[in-house]
Amino acid sequence: MKRLSWAIFLATVVSAYAQTQERKIINDAAEALGGKDRILLVKAIKVEGYGQLAYQNGGGNPTGSPDAPQKWINTNGVERWFDLEHSRMRLKQRLVQDFVFAYARNMTGISVNQVLDGDIAYNVAPDGRAVRATEAAARERRIAMLNNPVVLIRTALEPAAKLAHPRTSGNLQIVDLTTPKGDQLTLAVNSATHLPAWVSWVGPNTNLGDITFRTSWVGYTPEKGVMLPIGYNTTSDWRNVVQDKLYVDKNSVDVPVDDLAAPDAVKSVSPPNPQMNVQVIPVAKGIWFLKGTIGNSTLFEFDDHLTLFEAYANEAMAKAIIDKARTVVPSKPLTEVIISHHHFDHTGGLRTAVAEGLTIISQRGNEAIFREMTSRPAKLFPDELGKNPKPLKFKPVDDKLVLKDNSMEVVIYRVIANNHMPLGVMAYVPRDRLVAEGDLVDEGWDIVFWGNSYPDTVKYWNLQVEKDLPVHGNIHTYPEVIDFLKKQTANAQKLCDKVEAAGLSMQGCPVRQTF
Ligand SMILES: [Zn+2]
Repeated sequence: MKRLSWAIFLATVVSAYAQTQERKIINDAAEALGGKDRILLVKAIKVEGYGQLAYQNGGGNPTGSPDAPQKWINTNGVERWFDLEHSRMRLKQRLVQDFVFAYARNMTGISVNQVLDGDIAYNVAPDGRAVRATEAAARERRIAMLNNPVVLIRTALEPAAKLAHPRTSGNLQIVDLTTPKGDQLTLAVNSATHLPAWVSWVGPNTNLGDITFRTSWVGYTPEKGVMLPIGYNTTSDWRNVVQDKLYVDKNSVDVPVDDLAAPDAVKSVSPPNPQMNVQVIPVAKGIWFLKGTIGNSTLFEFDDHLTLFEAYANEAMAKAIIDKARTVVPSKPLTEVIISHHHFDHTGGLRTAVAEGLTIISQRGNEAIFREMTSRPAKLFPDELGKNPKPLKFKPVDDKLVLKDNSMEVVIYRVIANNHMPLGVMAYVPRDRLVAEGDLVDEGWDIVFWGNSYPDTVKYWNLQVEKDLPVHGNIHTYPEVIDFLKKQTANAQKLCDKVEAAGLSMQGCPVRQTF
C-alpha cells in the first residue's frame, strides 16, 4: 500500500476504534446498571430523600471570604420523579433556609413543585395552579432530568445522541455527550465497576459567568433489577462549593406516576420573558431614585460625572438601570457604582457594571470576591463581560469614604452591627439627610434579625437621617423605617416564641437585636 492509503486506512481504523470506545463506555455502563434491555424498559423512577443546597451558589455567606461559613438551604421531602415513558420530570421539595432571613416563609419552608413536560417547564403552586416557567428553567430541568444515572445512560443510548472524546483519568473512563436536544454533558464511568461515577455540565450564571457543575453518585443499590445511587453530591467549579446534596431514603422503579402533562392553560401561553423597566423619581437636586422592576438604584450627579448606588439582580436589570442613568444627565458620563455588599442578588449586575467600564466602590473586604467574580470567563453562555473581558477597577472603603465636589457630597459608611452583611456599606448625603442602602430595611420583609443595624449605624456615625432610598421597596421617611424594623423584629420574636412553644428550635432564636 502507498503511504497515503496507509494513512487513510489507519485513520479509518482509529476513528472506528474511537467510536467503539465511546460506545463501549456507554454499553458497559448500561450493563452495569442492569442491562441495556432492562434500562430501556424502565418506565418511571422515583427518588425520595432530603438534602441541602448552597444558598446563592455560595455567594450568600456573611462575607465573601472563602473561609466564611456556608449558608445552607435544607431541602426536605425531596421527590424527584422521572416519567421516562412520556419524557417528563417533576421535582417536589420544601426549601427551608438554615440561617436567619427576612421572610418567615423562607425559614418555615417554601413548597416547590417544578415540572418539565418535553420542552415545557411549569410550576405548580400549593393551591394547584400551574404557571408556565421560563426557557432557562426548561433548560435547567432538562439537565436535572439527566442528573439520574439511569436516565443519563438511556439518553446516551439513543441513536441521535452524540458521543465524543473518550478518555481515561485515574480509575475513570470519561466521554462527552451531546443529547438529542443539544445539551452538552460529560460523563465519567468507573473503570472497574462500569457504574456511572459523575456527570458534569456548564450553565450560565449572572455572578460567575460560565459555571461547571458536577454531580457524583455513590452507593449503588439494586431496585427491580436496576442499580440506583443513594447519594448525590453536586459541586461547582467556583471554589468547589458543594451546591447540592441529596441523601436518598428510597428509590422506586416503575411505580405509578402522577400525570405530569402540562395543562392546556400552560401549553397555550409562551414562556415568560420578563421585561426590566426603570422609573426615574427625582428626589433632591442632583439625586434620582431609579425604581427598577426587581430592584432599585440611586443616581448622584457630581461636577463632571455620575455615580450610581447598586447594580442589582442580573444583567438585564443592571443594564436597564445603567442605560436609564445615562439618559438622566446625558452630558455627564456614568463612571462608578457603589455596591452595598457582596451577596449574589446585590452583585447580580457586577459583571455588567465592569463590562460597562464602571469603577466599583465597596468595602475593602469585598474586593477579592469581586475580582474572582469578574475574572471568570463566559464563553458557552456569553454575557456582556464574557464578550468583552475587562479588569475590575475597584475603589475600597474602609470605614468611611467621602465623594465630594462642588455639586455633590456623598459619604459612604460601613454598616455597624449587621449579622447579614458585616462588610456592607451605605451612602449618606448630608445636605439632604438621606441614605441610599441595600438590605438595611425592606418594607416587604415580615421578620428581621438585624433590625438594630440601621439605627445603630446612624447613631455610630452620628448622622441626621430623614429619608431612606432602599434597593428593595419604596422611598420612606426615617421614622417609617424605624416602624418597619420594630414591627419586623417583633414578628421575628413571635415566630421564635411559636417555634419554642411547639418544642422545637430555630436558628436566630431568641432574637438578639431588639428595640
Ligand atoms: Zn444581602
